[in-house]
Amino acid sequence: MSRFWSPVVHNLSPYVPGEQPKLDDLVKLNTNENPYPPSPRVLAAIAAATDRLHLYPDPRASELREAIALRYGVAADEVFVGNGSDEILAHTFQALLKHDAPLLFPDITYSFFPVYCGLYGIRYEPVPLDAAMRIRTADYRRPCGAIILPNPNAPTGIGLPRSEIETLVAEHPDQVVVIDEAYVDFGAESAVPLIKRHDNLLVVQTLSKSRALAGLRVGFAIGQRHLIEALVRVKDSFNSYPLDRLALAGAAAAIEDAGWFQDTRQRIIASREKLARGLTELGFEVLPSQANFVFARHRGHAGAHLAAEFRRHRVLVRHFQKTRIDDYLRITVGTDDQCERVIAVARDLV
Ligand code: PMP
Repeated sequence: MSRFWSPVVHNLSPYVPGEQPKLDDLVKLNTNENPYPPSPRVLAAIAAATDRLHLYPDPRASELREAIALRYGVAADEVFVGNGSDEILAHTFQALLKHDAPLLFPDITYSFFPVYCGLYGIRYEPVPLDAAMRIRTADYRRPCGAIILPNPNAPTGIGLPRSEIETLVAEHPDQVVVIDEAYVDFGAESAVPLIKRHDNLLVVQTLSKSRALAGLRVGFAIGQRHLIEALVRVKDSFNSYPLDRLALAGAAAAIEDAGWFQDTRQRIIASREKLARGLTELGFEVLPSQANFVFARHRGHAGAHLAAEFRRHRVLVRHFQKTRIDDYLRITVGTDDQCERVIAVARDLV
């Protein structure tokens, strides 16, 4: 607290990211990073971009937006890019989600959503997940200013089929519906093909997970031009160059290397199924995941205790101190070796 602070700062409750430990002997499965390195083409593109660091990068990120547009079958002006999808979400909350009626999102979801509401003064109404921890889109049939959902949801990992997203979007023709697809590449259906038919749909994705580039900070959004224009107006009132030359070059190379992307994501999906099976056999209740993490609890053991015990065994997992989910652990899917280590430690603990 300081008397020098602007009033808004006093009331912020900032997001707390998962621990980035200094110890390197830990098996780090707490922030849903990719266990594999990015495509070698990314490293080559970044190296080649270093000879122009004395010049500002392209403020419009044209080449990267064109690479994304080509890959996803949309026009370049239907693509927005940002410094991680967190930055895009921040701009989206400010540009598209602040209305008189409340914003709707699930009660159990990405915990950055209420933080953005606090930062921008957005009224929101949490919509409870059902007893199976699923999003029930019928529960969103109520007066609102806009809707945002992750698909698959985080931290549950449970996805909704595209048809259900389309119904939700069609039921709210006068509200923006934002789908945060941070984890979609690990087995859920993307809503990107719906963009052409729906002027109220914005899809946000990231290169942090399925393209193994959490350290580069690049995300993108796809939607019709009028939605993208709102994001560009906010971005150009905030930072002309949110993506540096290295990020622009590396991200475009990652999008272009479809082979590396397919191979690594298939490996992670296969490891996830083994991890889920192993934990289930030990008596864990594992939610059906379409993401690169599993959300699991064990009836005989409190979540906080399990998380501390995993850490004692040099395995870092994420635990949320929040009602309804405080007995769950969110465990990132690592390599097969890392997943086997999780199962071995879990066997000791239960
Ligand atoms: N959405 C969800 C649901 C996430 O879990 C994350 C990662 N914390 C993000 C968005 C943001 O990812 P990034 O800023 O790395 O793109």
